[in-house]
Formats: sequence, C-alpha cells, structure tokens
Amino acid sequence: MRRSKRLTWRTLKLGIRAAMVVVTLVVMWLTGLASLRISLDELNTRAEANLAVQTAVLERHLDKFRLLSPLLARGPNIGRILDPFGSPSDPSVAAIAAGMSGAEEVWLMDPAGDVVLSSLEGIRSGAAGGAQRIPRAFEQARQGQLGRQLIPGTPDRVSNYVFASPLRENAMFMGVLAVRVSLDDVEQAWALSKDPILALDGYGRVVVTNVPAWRGKFASELDLGVDIAELSFPGRPELLVPAAGNPGYHMQLSGDLPVLGWTVKTLVDIEDARQRAGWAMLVALLVCVIAAGGIWFLIARREEFLRQERRTRAAALRLERRVQSRTADLRKANSRLEREVKEREQAEANLRLTQAELVQAAKLATLGRMSAALSHEYNQPLAAIRSDAEIAGMLIERGRAAEAQANLTRIGGMVTRMAEIAKTLKGFTRKSGTDIKPVSLRQVVDEAMLLLQPQIKQSEISLALDIPDADLIVKGGRIRLEQVVINLLSNALDAVSGNSQPEVRLAMRKDGEEAVLVVSDNGPGIDAEAMPQIFDPFFTTKDVGAGLGLGLSIAYKIVHDFSGSLKAANREDGGAEFTMRLPLVDERALAAE
Ligand code: ADP
Repeated sequence: MRRSKRLTWRTLKLGIRAAMVVVTLVVMWLTGLASLRISLDELNTRAEANLAVQTAVLERHLDKFRLLSPLLARGPNIGRILDPFGSPSDPSVAAIAAGMSGAEEVWLMDPAGDVVLSSLEGIRSGAAGGAQRIPRAFEQARQGQLGRQLIPGTPDRVSNYVFASPLRENAMFMGVLAVRVSLDDVEQAWALSKDPILALDGYGRVVVTNVPAWRGKFASELDLGVDIAELSFPGRPELLVPAAGNPGYHMQLSGDLPVLGWTVKTLVDIEDARQRAGWAMLVALLVCVIAAGGIWFLIARREEFLRQERRTRAAALRLERRVQSRTADLRKANSRLEREVKEREQAEANLRLTQAELVQAAKLATLGRMSAALSHEYNQPLAAIRSDAEIAGMLIERGRAAEAQANLTRIGGMVTRMAEIAKTLKGFTRKSGTDIKPVSLRQVVDEAMLLLQPQIKQSEISLALDIPDADLIVKGGRIRLEQVVINLLSNALDAVSGNSQPEVRLAMRKDGEEAVLVVSDNGPGIDAEAMPQIFDPFFTTKDVGAGLGLGLSIAYKIVHDFSGSLKAANREDGGAEFTMRLPLVDERALAAE
C-alpha cells in the first residue's frame, strides 16, 4: 500500500519533471519565435523602405534619360549632322549633348547600323558593330519607336542602358541616335546601403547591384541561399537559409519595375534577429530553469514536510505502542503487587493471629505462675492459721485461754501479711493514675529513704548517696516514683543481704535533657538466664514468701508511663545496676507554670 503510494509519487515527480522540460522547451520556442517575429517585422519595414528608395533611385535615373534620345533626335540641327551619306558634319554636337545631359555616351549610327559619331571618340567613320551591340534598340528605333536595350555588365564593367531614337530628314530614315546611360551612379547610390541590392532583368540576370561580383551573372548562378519562406512565415518576405556563397540567414524582399520588366531585390541579414531570438530563448530558458527550480524547491519542501509529518506520526505511533506495552506491564506489575499485598495481608493476619495466640499463651503462663505464687503465698499462712486456730480452740476448750492468746496473735499477724499481699496485687492491677506534674527527684529519694530507714538500720548496710546540689525536676507522680525507688533499693538490699561488706549506692545526675537515677549494689548480680525475664510480672528467684515477683514489673510500667526507661545490667566488678531515665521538665515551662 505504502509502496504503491511511493511509486505513484515517484511517477508523479517524473511526470512533473517531464512537464517542466516540455514547458521549458515550449516557452523557449515561443519566446524565440515571438522575438524573431518582432525583429523580422522591424527589419522588414526598414528593408521595404530601403527597397522602395533604391528602386526609386534606379527608376528616376533611367527616367531622366528616357526622353533624351527622342529630344536630341528631333533637335533642329540634328539633320545637318548626318549628310545623306551618313557622315557627321559637326562632331561636337554629340559631345555637347552627352555632356549636357550627363549621359555616358551619345552615338549616331547610320542606317546600316554603324556608329559614325560617338561623343567619346568623335568621328568614327564606318565604326562597325553599333547595331550589333544594341540590335533590339536599333530595330525598335528603325521602326520609329523608342529603342531600349541593356548592355549587361560584368563583374568588372558596369551595365549600361541604351535609349535609341530614329533620325529622320523629311520622313527619310537617316540613322539612329542612341544614348548610353551608365548605371554606375545607381550602383554608387546603392553602395551606401549595407544590405546587398540587385536588379534583375527579365532573364534573371543581375543588371545593377552593390555587390560588383554578382554583376552580369544570372540569379540562378548566384548562391543566394535556399528559400525557406513558406516554412515558417507564410505571407512574409522570403527567407533564405545560408548557402556557400552567402553565409548567414537572409530575408529577401522584391519589388517590380514593370516598365523595364525588371525586379529589384534586397537581401537583409537577419543574423542579428536570430541572435536576439537566441538570447531571448536563453533568457526564457533561464527564467524557466529558475521557475522550475523554485517549483522543485517547493515540491521538495512539501515532500520534506510530509516526510517529517510521517516520521512524527510514526514516532507517535511507536510511543503509543510503547505506552500500551508499558501500561500492560504496569497492569501486570500492579496485579502482581495486589496479589503480593493480599499475600502480605494474609501473612500479617496470620502473624497477628499467631501473636494473639502467643500473647494468650504468655498470659496463661503468667496466670500459671501467678496462681502458683499466690497459692504458695496464701496456702502457707492459711495452713498455719488453721492449725493455730485448732490449737487455740483446744486450749480454750481446756480452759487455757491465756495460752490461746499467742496463737490468736500469730493468726492476726498472718492475716495482716495476707492483706499486704492482697494490697500489692491490688497495686499491680490498679490503673495508673493520670495525675502527672513536675516532681522533685531529690524529694522522691528523700521520702523513699525515710520509708526504708527501718530496713536499712536493721540490715546494717552502708548506703551511699550521690546526689547533685541542683535539684532534678521530672514529670510524673510523686508517690509512684517513690514506689519505683523503694522497689529498686529494697531489691538491692535483698541482693547484698548475704554479703560480708554489703554496699548499696544511689546516684543521680543530669544527662542532656534527661534525669538519670542509678541504683547499684555489690550483690551476686543477675543471672544471664534470668536477665530477659526480670521485668516480667510474677518472675522471682526469691524463696517462697520472700517475693511476689511484681516489684520490677510495676516499676517498669510506672517509668514507661512517665515516658522514661528502666534498664538492668550487671556491673563489671560484680553486682547489679538498675538505670532509670526520665525526661527533665523544661525549666522555662516550669517557671511559666
Ligand atoms: P521479688 O523482689 O519479689 O523477687 P522483683 O520483681 O522485685 O520481685 O525482682 C525479680 C527478680 O529480679 C528477683 O527475684 C531477683 O532474682 C532479681 N533481682 C532484682 N533485683 C536484683 C538485684 N539488685 N540483684 C540481683 N538480682 C535482683
């Protein structure tokens, strides 16, 4: 399809090219023809005028002498010039006549036709041959008419024309008077014309011409050229193509001289006109070439434009295809992603389920531990209470009520202990208070120390305090922070209880935007196994009854509630170390409050 289109376009281009060549040729031919016609018209007009003038010169020249011979023949003294024997009596007459008229020569011929007197040569008694030179004129004169005859010239000799009239004396034929006129004057007049002019007599012989070489020759002998007039200029003057003797193109114009039966022709050189036509054709060619170039340029531009457009369209199509394929890829990737997302969601759901199950399991485990711890905590005092109650009952039955008193006191102590356990549990489950305000950490430590004083005194442990002068203010609940410090200190006191030189240390400092409180001891430290679990509720390594395993988990929860952190570590030189970090209150905010 596209190929055939290209083919037709190529054919069209070929056609356009051919048409351009044809149009160029036609335009060139027409331009040449028009130019030639205009030039030839001009030449023709000029040549016609010239021909008319030159023909008139010839006509007038002969006309001038036409009447001279009759006039001279009828002159009063003429009869006396020739005596009855034909001898001239006064030879000067002829010379005078000739001289006055401007004729070349005046002859007097006797009736036999011999010249007896010549204006040039004087008396030529018996000079024979006069009538032989102009037999027709002589004959015409003898018959009483005006005799006319041409003496044709040669390339070296100018033609002459002779007029002859009879000489009569009392109606007697005495002889003939002939006037010879040279046509040299006409030729001299014609010589001024640059175009060749020639007069042909009835035989087609060149009589007068401004080209001496042609004189006396027959037109058919002359290589004037071949007539092509009818070919391209019907109704126009004859045109002659060049011939050997007459190079160059010529236009031939003719005029008739009916009295003489002559024809006057002129040959006009039309080389200039042809050259001008040639130039015109060249200019036309140039213009056509430029125009064709312009048209071709436009076509080429149009073609380039179309090609560009095609290219752009192809590029757009390619792009569209690429976009389509990319879209398809994207769609695929999208669906793959969707699938993956679904799978992830599924996995997440599974994970959540597993986590929930784990939490559940952990809860159950915690519950197990709690119930074990609680049953231990409660069973022991309960059993003691029962046995004490039984003993007290038996003692009262036997009337020994005073002795039962001690049992009852023990029972009260154990109930108090159980109430304390319950209280601890209640503290653990209780929701953390929402009351949070700036708290002085030093005050917290002081009060915790006050509460722990009896225990410290009892165990005789040295407690080192490292507290800075500047107070540290943190945000939190005072009572709950006291509980944390008490928990950490009482754990440390517990840990160093078996030590020969027990030592517990409490340090406080400021670290950037945080307050740091460190409780360390030189106890046995924390087991690597126990380390991950020490903050778990109900995790304890202490003997039954000695600890519930809630202290650290409560402390951890409280510190986190106040946006702080609580970490446990073992010291390098033995013993455990608990670090509590709490964000410091912005002092400016505090001042504002
Ligand atoms: P309890 O004190 O009732 O055992 P806690 O939660 O306070 O419960 O402590 C949990 C466990 O962490 C303790 O049983 C003990 O094994 C360990 N522990 C806590 N403090 C220390 C310490 N200063 N040195 C060594 N071990 C400690």
